[in-house]
This record gives sequence, C-alpha cells and structure tokens, in this order.
Amino acid sequence: ILELRKLTRTFGALTAVNAIDLDIAEGEFFTIVGPSGSGKTTMLRMLAGMEQATSGDILLRGKRINDVPANRRPTCMVFQSLALFPHRTVGQNIEFPMKIRGVDPAKRKERALQLMRQLRLPENYYGKNVTKCSGGERQRVALARALAYDPEILFFDEPLSAIDYKLRKTLERELKDIHRETGKTFVYITHSLEEAMVMSDRIGVMQAGRLIQVGTPNQIYSTPTNRFVSEFIGDVN
Ligand code: ATP
Repeated sequence: ILELRKLTRTFGALTAVNAIDLDIAEGEFFTIVGPSGSGKTTMLRMLAGMEQATSGDILLRGKRINDVPANRRPTCMVFQSLALFPHRTVGQNIEFPMKIRGVDPAKRKERALQLMRQLRLPENYYGKNVTKCSGGERQRVALARALAYDPEILFFDEPLSAIDYKLRKTLERELKDIHRETGKTFVYITHSLEEAMVMSDRIGVMQAGRLIQVGTPNQIYSTPTNRFVSEFIGDVN
C-alpha cells in the first residue's frame, strides 16, 4: 500500500533519514524501532505529509504523494500527546472528524458509539469530559477519533511511551486486537523493541537515518544482522 523509494530528509549537514527503501503491505502492522535521534519521527512525519522529503518518493497504491498535503492524504496520525480537545466530551472528540465532513448528528453519534464499543469504552462515557478520563481511556478515545476519519493508514508516534508499564502492556494487546479487527494498515514508531516484538507483523530497525534490518519479530530475534540489533535484543532479555 505504501512504498518508500530512496526517501531522504536532510537538515543542513545532517541526514536525518537516509535513502530509505521500504514496502509496507496493506493491512500490515509495521513498526519502526530505533534509538532516539535515529530518524523515526522524521520518517513518519514525511509519510503523514507533515514534513517535506528532501529527495526520494512516497507512493501510496502506486501514486506519488510527496506533494499531497497532510489533510488530503487518507492517513491519520495518533500522537504521544493524543491531542484531544480538553473540556470536550468523549463523544465530541470522537465525532470531530465526522463533523468537519458534514456527517449528520444522528449518524455521527451512531458511529461514535460503535467505535466506543470497538475500543471497549463504556457507553455512558459518551457524555463524559475527556479530562475526567484516565490515561488509558484517553488513549482509546484518541484511537477512536483517528478511526472516525476512516483512514486507510494510521500512523502512531510513540503513543504508549508516557504510560506506566502495566497499562502499557494491556494497551499493546488491545492495539493488536484493534488492528486485527479493523484490518487497517498501522505504521508505528517506538524506541522499545519489546513493544515492537509484541505487536508487529514486521519490524524495521533504524540507526542513524538508515533502515538497517527489516523482518518479522521472529527473524529479528533469531538472526539479528548486526551488533546494534543484537545489543538491542540483549536489552529485551
Ligand atoms: P526520538 O525517538 O528522540 O523522537 P527519532 O528517532 O524520532 O528520535 P528524529 O526526531 O527523526 O529521531 O530526529 C532525527 C535527527 O534529525 C536528530 O538528530 C534530530 O536532531 C534531527 N532533526 C529532527 N527534526 C529537525 C529539525 N526540524 N531541524 C533540525 N534537525 C532536526
């Protein structure tokens, strides 16, 4: 569904993303993992249309989308900060994407409640203020709102990194289930290989702007292709 061809982004003398070639399949849960500063965020921002590539191509279903602005791409970003509207209800947050598209209120509510069921949010949360929701619940609201855009691809920018360990484990499992249920393409970035291992169909390991290994969690685990990856795996054990 998504093809990257020699995708590159430089900032002055620094090459943040260096000639990356990658194909992501439709429906795949693809995770980009790597240490801080390896270029993950820059790469994701280019895919989402929030950052211009310096050179190279991004193809969506075979069409070059480099010059398509973020809001015209059939993609949606879920941020670590979640970026929910505070002082608005769960329902208002989830319905926002449909509201701006002019979907009528009854249909919006029906779809919001459907998404809430899918995300395991109790129905009586519909009128609840998001500031009164817990971290995990807010995470679910953010995901429901992203799905309300009905995107073909969802991009996740370390959405679980600020969440404590136990809840993170639960949300990792839920995210994997939601991925399966929706059949959407998920592209996820994290600095945690452990998180990547649990959720992903395939993992791409980045180091200093380069994609140094791509494979299934099993392949990465059993045959790390260089010392960086094996040290990374050492941290998991
Ligand atoms: P983190 O996990 O810390 O977010 P990352 O792997 O996502 O790291 P990036 O944020 O993509 O890495 O940064 C890659 C490199 O590009 C870093 O050296 C960073 O300082 C640099 N960089 C990113 N954005 C800019 C910018 N707008 N201007 C200058 N340099 C930038």
